[in-house]
Amino acid sequence: MSIYFDNAATTKPFEECNRAVLRALNEKWGNPSSLHKMGIEAQEVAENSRKAIAAALGCESECVYFTSGATESNNTAILGAAKAHGKRRKKIVTTSVEHPSVSEAMKLLEANGYEIVRVNARSDGEYCFEDFIDAVDDNTCLVSCMLVNNENGLIMPVKKAFNSIKRLYPHIITHTDAVQGFLKIPFKASELNADLISISAHKIHGPKGVGALYIKKDVRISPHIIGGGQENKKRSGTENIPAIAGFGAAVRVNMANANENAAKAQELKSALFRSLMRLDGVSFNSGTEDSSPYIANFSVMGVRSEIMLHYLEEKEIFVSSGSACSKGAKSSVLKGFGLSDDRIDSALRVSFCAENTVGEVKVLCAAIADGIARFRKQ
Ligand code: PMP
Repeated sequence: MSIYFDNAATTKPFEECNRAVLRALNEKWGNPSSLHKMGIEAQEVAENSRKAIAAALGCESECVYFTSGATESNNTAILGAAKAHGKRRKKIVTTSVEHPSVSEAMKLLEANGYEIVRVNARSDGEYCFEDFIDAVDDNTCLVSCMLVNNENGLIMPVKKAFNSIKRLYPHIITHTDAVQGFLKIPFKASELNADLISISAHKIHGPKGVGALYIKKDVRISPHIIGGGQENKKRSGTENIPAIAGFGAAVRVNMANANENAAKAQELKSALFRSLMRLDGVSFNSGTEDSSPYIANFSVMGVRSEIMLHYLEEKEIFVSSGSACSKGAKSSVLKGFGLSDDRIDSALRVSFCAENTVGEVKVLCAAIADGIARFRKQ
């Protein structure tokens, strides 16, 4: 039996999700824009999922727009907000530890004349909301800060930062990439004071290739994908109804168990850290406070990440050496948190879901101990 500890990269779809996808493929294959009954039935599938997502975000259904995933949601939020609000105000504030779907969009805007200010972690690796307040000014059109970092699980001070920014500069658009926080740590759109929120289905046991962007009522952004005017003119293209059906089903299952699942993940993370503490030369790159219970990051000093990752893989244990998106490249995100090259080179990310067990954590730790004995240079 294999052990899957790479849930921050993607999760196994729930049975409920798969059934909903198949039902939509077989029975609700009309075009949701068609005016006849088959179109209306397909549209109903999308509206049911929209309702479930809105309930999870604590907002009205009209604020939820379906996309092809969080990469598109992030691109749309950032490029769309800059286009709509950046004509006179050319400054954007973000962080140095964002996912590439945010950081690359920022680079594109930078090349087009925007001033991008990247807030850094303090020397202890923490982010302080005051640093965001110091970075914004009247010339700022957008602030984008992720909710939970995908590599080390740090919960960013989005709520405090956005609430203060909105009080001081109500015109600034606030965006959060909430992919690793949605249905994993409790939050509501209104508490965050976010105008734009990106989420993805495949991180919560839904299908790949579908996500959503929350757009607060009356917040204007230019559409990134234009065409037939679907999704209330915010995102053109025939909606991926089967994937949207699966997304809604996954959201419902998660909502019913969110607190219980987070407690389970916390138990697993604590068990992992307790076991790793007994091993020589393991440094922890993520904490237990202000940190997602679902993500643990640590360095097995003296053993390169890839060596340990493939050793574990031989034993059918799957972990990550960083984010799946960076495919072996040295993590600029961990560098952004101030880690030394040695620590980055030996970093492993273990990410949980509620299906994992303490027994699996024990198997992982025993395998890491074996790996250390085999590979660490004396
Ligand atoms: N943001 C974060 C924080 C992520 O972890 C990911 C997935 N790696 C994305 C955005 C992109 O999501 P998607 O795969 O749905 O495009």
